[in-house]
Amino acid sequence: MTATCDFVRIWEHVSSQIEAHRDTLNDLDRKAGDGDHGENLSRGYRAALVSLQDRPPEQLADGLARVGSVVTDEVAGTSGFLLGSAFRETARVLTTAETLTADAVGAALSAAIDAIERRGKARLGDKTMLDALIPARDAIASLDPAASAHVALQAGAKAAREGAIATANLIATKGRASYVGERGLGSQDAGAVSTALTLEALAAATRN
Ligand code: ADP
Ligand code: MG
Ligand code: MG
Repeated sequence: MTATCDFVRIWEHVSSQIEAHRDTLNDLDRKAGDGDHGENLSRGYRAALVSLQDRPPEQLADGLARVGSVVTDEVAGTSGFLLGSAFRETARVLTTAETLTADAVGAALSAAIDAIERRGKARLGDKTMLDALIPARDAIASLDPAASAHVALQAGAKAAREGAIATANLIATKGRASYVGERGLGSQDAGAVSTALTLEALAAATRN
């Protein structure tokens, strides 16, 4: 995959996967929060898709930056604030990438993690989206840096899914979910699950 890939087609897949899991994500968020995570994310991702279709980006980085701005504008609440800046940061990293290798994908995820940690003040183990994103980044870092974006996203998605499943054993200390505390045990974090779904969809859409 090159930095000038068909990002609109890729995002179409991501958006439709999140929409397909909207109710599941709402249900997970209902157990620990206010039950709107599926709604928030599918609305934000769909609005980003409409914007991308209206005005197709020339570069992958432009596409990711647009997703970031639209998600920030459209999604109220924590996930809009955190994910919007995370997407914009990945765009900044990928502006200079000519070919999208595992190295570049890993650097982009690191930038997303930094943005989320800086703004949300959560850490690994706090039962948030970081518990999917950090294992994904670490799995990619162990690959050959020259491996393809597809291989990287596949490895990242697998680790993110395992991380999301493991959030069922964690007690939330950040965000609304912290009010539920121990009662949230046994239930996966909605943001970690949506992160796994997003990476899985990106991996599937970049298969070549
Ligand atoms: P809201 O909590 O405003 O309703 P969402 O329901 O869309 O927003 O998103 C909730 C998700 O956001 C959680 O499942 C969790 O993964 C993530 N989250 C919440 N607070 C933080 C934080 N401080 N840092 C990282 N992620 C967080
Ligand atoms: Mg919510
Ligand atoms: Mg909310």
